[in-house]
Amino acid sequence: MPRILIVEDEMQIARTLRDFLEVAGFEVTAVGDGTAALASVRGDRPDLIVLDLGLPGIDGLDVARELRHTSATPIVMLTARGEESDRIVGLEIGADDYLVKPFSPKELVARVRAVLRRTSGVAMGVEVLRAGDVEVDQSKMRARVDGSAVELTPTEFRLLATLVREPGRVFTRGQLLDALHGVAIDTYERAIDAHVKNLRRKIEPEPGHPRYVLTVHGVGYRFADA
Ligand code: CA
Repeated sequence: MPRILIVEDEMQIARTLRDFLEVAGFEVTAVGDGTAALASVRGDRPDLIVLDLGLPGIDGLDVARELRHTSATPIVMLTARGEESDRIVGLEIGADDYLVKPFSPKELVARVRAVLRRTSGVAMGVEVLRAGDVEVDQSKMRARVDGSAVELTPTEFRLLATLVREPGRVFTRGQLLDALHGVAIDTYERAIDAHVKNLRRKIEPEPGHPRYVLTVHGVGYRFADA
């Protein structure tokens, strides 16, 4: 049974999340501040951490930073509306996903499941990736959209493969730039926008109204989930 650590100082929210996660089959521990969170991670080794960023004492982002020094345990951040810069910093630190309050507990359960699925390593080593009608053959470096082959540069190919590997995951420009390391020599994040524009021109039926590579305003990009 996967074990989840909830770090949330608002007890009402913590209780609700705990109930929903337990019903969904997870074993749940809840703590109310960063110090307890770090101790719990060291002691209990949870499979995933649900981390509220607005915490008393050690700030949630500092907790995430500290966690990333010592572990790769997946983190789903909870943020307040309007804290867009925190979300970006959190994703850059290495959080795996985020939810903006208020959110439905069912949505959290779905995200937790998705993050566990994609971080469990099961998807690693898969050579042909598929999302909707987009297919990416990593060994042959070929991509098809709706059955038709598309010609991509190595940079565009790597960008598409990165996005398709985790449909729905929001990538910051910095993370996409990291993924292109080795095939692209760009050093500033806005270069990603140009690559996305070129990629859309090749794979989107209507590049001006993308249905595959979607913009997440103020953060970056994601591949459509369904
Ligand atoms: Ca809080």
